[in-house]
Amino acid sequence: MIEIGSERIQVFDTTLRDGEQAAGNRLTPRQKLEIAHQLNTLNVDVIEAGFPASSPGDLEAVKLIARKIRGPVITGLARAVEKDIDQLWEAVCKAEQNRIHIVLGSSDKHISGKFSSSREAVLQRGVDAVRYAKKLTDQVEYSTEDASRSDFDYLCRVVEEVIKAGATVVNIPDTVGWAVPEEFGPLIHRIKERVPLTDKVILSVHCHNDLGFATSNTMAAIKNGAQQVEVTINGIGERAGNASLEEVVMLLDRRGDYYKRGTNIDISEILTTSKMVSEMMALPVQANKAIVGKNAFAHSSGIHQDGILKETGTYEIIPPKLLGLDKHQIILTARSGKHALKHTYNELGIQLNDRELKQLYPHFLNFADSHKNISHSDLKKLYKSAVDR
Ligand SMILES: [Zn+2]
Repeated sequence: MIEIGSERIQVFDTTLRDGEQAAGNRLTPRQKLEIAHQLNTLNVDVIEAGFPASSPGDLEAVKLIARKIRGPVITGLARAVEKDIDQLWEAVCKAEQNRIHIVLGSSDKHISGKFSSSREAVLQRGVDAVRYAKKLTDQVEYSTEDASRSDFDYLCRVVEEVIKAGATVVNIPDTVGWAVPEEFGPLIHRIKERVPLTDKVILSVHCHNDLGFATSNTMAAIKNGAQQVEVTINGIGERAGNASLEEVVMLLDRRGDYYKRGTNIDISEILTTSKMVSEMMALPVQANKAIVGKNAFAHSSGIHQDGILKETGTYEIIPPKLLGLDKHQIILTARSGKHALKHTYNELGIQLNDRELKQLYPHFLNFADSHKNISHSDLKKLYKSAVDR
């Protein structure tokens, strides 16, 4: 159900639509269904399952997901033309809850450059498309493509007219990642102020990462009243990708003191979902990626290791257990101190006394200087060769 005015942020996952547009991807309908099941377990509110008019395979995939997945709203993308809307409707009509999502440009670059049309004609086309979709279903979302580069007065007119025509969700995309947070947050605020009808609908945002601001812009929009966020797992998507689900969700979870909003996401499912999407799409996650990167919970500096072994809060703001991990990782390197070394041996079942630790430490440093990875068996060998028992 759509909750207007709720404290809870709706998570609209577009991994299977925008995410699948990432260069080099193509999932089969079965693979898409498998990911959709996992997104359901993760407890997203909306799954954008594809763009049915783009290919017969995508139509089939969206249809399959709409039939099989119970819980989230199932939607897909349609351009503001009847043929696209009909195909999307054919795909999602069997869903427990469905939504028609229409996209149409609102910037002059799109209006004259892409459509060779006029603002008035494009506005009318959008209104007609919403009216047409509204005859098919209750939930209609309208995306003002390239909103952040659109004329503000015109953008507000579009928002107002599509709401009057029946749109229940209005999405403000930063389609090319052009906005900065100090503009994008206030843009949402100003739209709400200028168009009081926005109080009757869900205001949504969809941010791209071309300049690295996708998550920041999304959070600025939340702070200014956006109620739905369009995000993807691992931040994948067209070009440099979209705002990442895990970053937005964890920011709301960890910094609730500031944002005062939450989601329904089951945080303990984030890593499983991230891994599945990365493997199925053959898109590796960068090691230092926030939340889901291989090194996100690995501490390798000696000063940090010493701190975290004394008090985890010193360098750890996300308890690994929240994400279903046992605990943080201590990576032994030539920058590790005696404390971390003793701790790691302890975990291997070897209790070093002070004399042994002192004797072993210089040998360890020598070894660590010439080896990138230090395994447990390396540590055991080192212990045997360097410590007089
Ligand atoms: Zn997009």
